[in-house]
Amino acid sequence: MAFSWFRKKKSAARANQDSAKAESGADKKSENGSGAKNGNDPKQAAKNAAGAVGAALKPTGDQKLSVIKLVDTLIQQSYRLRASDIHLDPEENLLKVRLRIDGVMHDSFVLPKSIHQEVITRIKVMASMRTDEHQTAQDGRIRVTIEEKNFDIRVSIAPTYYGENCVMRLLSGGDQAFALKDLGFSDENLEKIERAITKPYGMILATGPTGSGKTTTLYTILQKLNTKEVVIITVEDPIEYSIGGLEQIQVNERTGLTFAKGLRFILRQDPDIIMVGEIRDDETAGIAVNAALTGHLMLSTLHTNDSTTAIPRLLDMGVEPFLITSTLNVAIGQRLVRQLCGSCKKKKKLTKAEIDNLKRFVSEKIIAANEGADFYAAVGCNECSGGYKSRIGIHEVFEIDSGIRELIVQKASGDKIREAAIKSGMITMLEDGFKKAVAGVTTLEEVLRVFYE
Ligand SMILES: [Zn+2]
Repeated sequence: MAFSWFRKKKSAARANQDSAKAESGADKKSENGSGAKNGNDPKQAAKNAAGAVGAALKPTGDQKLSVIKLVDTLIQQSYRLRASDIHLDPEENLLKVRLRIDGVMHDSFVLPKSIHQEVITRIKVMASMRTDEHQTAQDGRIRVTIEEKNFDIRVSIAPTYYGENCVMRLLSGGDQAFALKDLGFSDENLEKIERAITKPYGMILATGPTGSGKTTTLYTILQKLNTKEVVIITVEDPIEYSIGGLEQIQVNERTGLTFAKGLRFILRQDPDIIMVGEIRDDETAGIAVNAALTGHLMLSTLHTNDSTTAIPRLLDMGVEPFLITSTLNVAIGQRLVRQLCGSCKKKKKLTKAEIDNLKRFVSEKIIAANEGADFYAAVGCNECSGGYKSRIGIHEVFEIDSGIRELIVQKASGDKIREAAIKSGMITMLEDGFKKAVAGVTTLEEVLRVFYE
């Protein structure tokens, strides 16, 4: 009875459907965003998550579980499960808890509606938010220590039809020092990036959709550039990791401190290296390009599908073609794929049907290059989540050569520029993904998922 309010929520039927759909390699994200759906076992991952949290939340002794303890345990267990986000979604009769692990949402379990308000109030107290405010969205932060590691949780609470929801983002990267190689960059791509960041000025852009690891790539480059001899200032929204030795400024729309304003402010202090969290408007684009032209190394992100689309995007934002060709050192395109678990992955050959299916998504050239290659299948064991463990990037690194410079000046289409880049030897993200699939780092399903989900 004590356990009755804690029900595991799972639809076996839907999970099966998901893995069946995944065979096609191009299933759409299901409406509630749940489930890993790429040929591995999404049920297993959800079960692992729910099982661990469930065991921890199980009432003991007097059967009375305080909400304080519940929230603490939820955060601790989510951290141990390597979740990046915790979503609390109220529905009519329950409070659904979902975890994002390695980029994929899992329906983890449900809490009774009766404690919904108490849970939200407890989180508000922890995040220093107003507990008497229920009608507007609020943002806050919680500082936690788990296993002797300090990190922040970014909290956002907003009113919904069934009451306030909550999203907690675990920013646990603060004390991690990555090397670019650990992020999955190939030797060839590393060489291009090295070239780009050793130039005294110019732009380095990381491109990709939300959640593709752009910011981590830029932070890693910044850590590499971060020496006593240089001044680095950033303007970010939000500040995801704080790095010693850097001056980091938080964008604040309410006080009018936008990316553009922040950038102008930074330039007056004449740093050597600048990072702007994102270029998303004409004004920021204009200032950023000018800064790159006048002796600063400028790092930023662009929300585009791939590296070469950075060019038409900058043109759209009113940047003159000659300014692009004279400032863009390199544009990196990327996605994050889940990494196969070394303990349970299994070698496999593609069937004829799978190869035929691939032809719908991938060029003949890539298929021919991988003919007869061994790939791997995700299996699942108790060391991993459905055959996967953590994530790694797949990348493309776009450099401008004389032919491409000519195309940019002519304001050629994105497709033309991409074609020319590939002709000049750029390994595309998809090709990089195939290489990692053949190397047993990830699966082909996973590579296709990140492009066609
Ligand atoms: Zn495993």
